[in-house]
Amino acid sequence: MEAMDTSPLIVGNWKMELSHKAELEMARALKSLLKGTPLTAQVVICPSFPTLPLLHEFLGTSEKLELGAQTIHWEEKGAWTGAVSVLQISPWAKWVIVGHSEQRELTGCTDVEVEKQAQLALKHGLTPIICIGETAEERAADQTIARVTEQVSFILQKMTRASITRIVIAYEPLWAIGTGNTPDPNDIAATLLLIRKLIAERFDRPASERIRLLYGGSVTPDTVDGFMSEPGVNGVLVGGSSVHPMEFVEIIKNVSSHAG
Ligand code: PEP
Repeated sequence: MEAMDTSPLIVGNWKMELSHKAELEMARALKSLLKGTPLTAQVVICPSFPTLPLLHEFLGTSEKLELGAQTIHWEEKGAWTGAVSVLQISPWAKWVIVGHSEQRELTGCTDVEVEKQAQLALKHGLTPIICIGETAEERAADQTIARVTEQVSFILQKMTRASITRIVIAYEPLWAIGTGNTPDPNDIAATLLLIRKLIAERFDRPASERIRLLYGGSVTPDTVDGFMSEPGVNGVLVGGSSVHPMEFVEIIKNVSSHAG
């Protein structure tokens, strides 16, 4: 098992925004824009499933860009037409997003299945980027703390001391995804602190300090610095801005400048 990387992390979730050709062009553009740029951050791009093998070959041993998948099924295999198993992406991806709100909505998967996805990823040597966050209704009802606590408790259920440092948790309030609305950076820091507290209660403080916690939801080149300037924010999960090469590179450079 690889040692835990503690550098800041940027994850680009390309969703279903680009054609196959455009995904290849996007990767090419990123590689060339980042050439010669010293980076202290780790960058993961998550294209669509069919592009993973080609990008795996194209990126080769690039130290700048790593590959992630946008989801996996919560079962290793079976009669699930149209679904994709961890066994089918593990040759190409080192990372996988699980529990993204769009997947939760699409497949009806709940905290139970998300926990299974995270365990499957770990079993096959992938790093799960586990998305959690409250809905607008939960926020309005002052239930953010309760919902985040519930989701983190599910994630921690079967987590071992060895695996806890191999996961990433992304706090993505659902009302902030793709809307242009974002929480106050102070509120993000407070929620991430709550997550660390829950991890420290289950394991210990050093474990809670080693895990990388990201913020996701309408991150742009204009807003990223405010989020990254908060204590305990170890990186960002980016949707919309990650499919625009110049915007994504600006975000990457900003996050990288917050290393150390
Ligand atoms: C996301 O889909 O995880 C996301 C954060 O999207 P956006 O950046 O577009 O809000």
